[in-house]
Amino acid sequence: MLIVSEETCKKTVGRSEAFAAVEAVFAAMAKGDAYNFPVIREAIGHADALYGFKSGFDKSGMVLGVKSGGYWPDNMEKGLINHQSSVFLFDPDTGQLKAVVGGNYLTAIRTAASSSVSIAHLARPDARVLGLVGAGHQAGFQLRAAAEQRDFEKVVAWNLHPEMLPALKKVADDIGLPFEAVEREQLGAEADVIITITSAFEPLMMKDWVKPGTHLACMGTDTAGKQEVDAELVAAATLFTDEIAQSVTIGETQHAISAGLISDSDITPVGDVINGTHPGRTSADEITLFDGTGVGLQDLAVASEAARLAEDAGLARKVEM
Ligand code: NAD
Repeated sequence: MLIVSEETCKKTVGRSEAFAAVEAVFAAMAKGDAYNFPVIREAIGHADALYGFKSGFDKSGMVLGVKSGGYWPDNMEKGLINHQSSVFLFDPDTGQLKAVVGGNYLTAIRTAASSSVSIAHLARPDARVLGLVGAGHQAGFQLRAAAEQRDFEKVVAWNLHPEMLPALKKVADDIGLPFEAVEREQLGAEADVIITITSAFEPLMMKDWVKPGTHLACMGTDTAGKQEVDAELVAAATLFTDEIAQSVTIGETQHAISAGLISDSDITPVGDVINGTHPGRTSADEITLFDGTGVGLQDLAVASEAARLAEDAGLARKVEM
């Protein structure tokens, strides 16, 4: 059995490895070769923590496992990040534990890979302005990954807490992109691609603010009640997601669904676009929206890659069970 630490994950899985792993597992999900099991997420009645499991099996990649963890709101005071998780991988032929892999860095890199895959397949090729709504822990990962998908010339960003924007500007500086903090209306008017990555419970981007041809990757809404964009905007867009069952219950489309503006059949798995069974964007004026809810198979895909690369590089600890 292998133990792969957080540090080893950082050394072995970069953005390109995460992109390839996430794109492949979205394709497998759409073909019915990989499926996620029902998610468990519970308030444990201690430390205000939410704890749960996301698991699944990818038959094409032969990856079976579970990500376990959650959210501990007081961790920051202890010098730890609030989201904590670990991935356990099992041998699909025998059920034996194969690896324990740190899940914190991998969660950020697989979430950024998810919006990146959507940008690669759905954004207009001539997209030049990237908009970010949110400036928390995930936002920098999102910016770095998105910047590799198109020839962006500028980043515009908004955050509820403006004091968090300088850290995001540093990332833009680092990759050589001009950065401007703007109001949300201006962000909608300028951006060709918009990533939302906040913990909001109300719409932050309205339909009338977004121009034709925009691609949105809505990444923050992963729980019932959360919301980042106007339900009317969702209804006006051509909709894609990682997994329809999650999108309509805990993802960004939940509000348009409950308002009766759209139905499940209006949403396409992005894996269909990757597999070539759906055309994706069909016009330069179309608004496309990817609802990235975050599925367990993404975690298993990147963790499996981390374990493989760490073993090859001699960086994994081997332990007898
Ligand atoms: P974080 O706590 O570091 O940052 C939270 C961000 O949301 C900050 O930009 C903050 O200013 C903003 N925010 C907080 N409350 C807000 C409100 N009421 N209105 C508008 N903005 C608000 O969190 P993070 O790790 O960057 O994660 C951001 C979001 O992404 C969270 O909701 C998290 O659950 C979600 N997430 C989704 C996935 C996925 O796969 N889809 C994966 C990881 C995290």
